[in-house]
Amino acid sequence: MTDGAGPRAPHPVRRRLVALVAAKSAQLGVAPRRITLKDTRSRWGSCSPDGALSFSWRLILAPRFVLDYVVAHEVAHLRELNHSNRFWRITETLTADMAKAREWLTQHGAGLHRYGRLM
Ligand SMILES: [Zn+2]
Repeated sequence: MTDGAGPRAPHPVRRRLVALVAAKSAQLGVAPRRITLKDTRSRWGSCSPDGALSFSWRLILAPRFVLDYVVAHEVAHLRELNHSNRFWRITETLTADMAKAREWLTQHGAGLHRYGRLM
């Protein structure tokens, strides 16, 4: 019985991520091209210019409001592929505790994506 217990993405986080992405995408009227879970320590999430979202399965270790924010952040990039004021306003409409989540992420080291260095 190793299902879900290995180093690969466990099922619960995938299901939760897919459900959250679907809900927030619907709210914005956008659709991700695909959702990938990765085993990365350096980034919690990323959005490629072609609309593919990636998340670290380590988000399962983060509080729920952080997971919610990371999903909101990446989904907002489907509309605005930058960190403009407009992007932050969109992100804020998709999640409840943006400031708190950003603080948590700062304290816990890992960042989000860097453009131009997509895996
Ligand atoms: Zn971003």
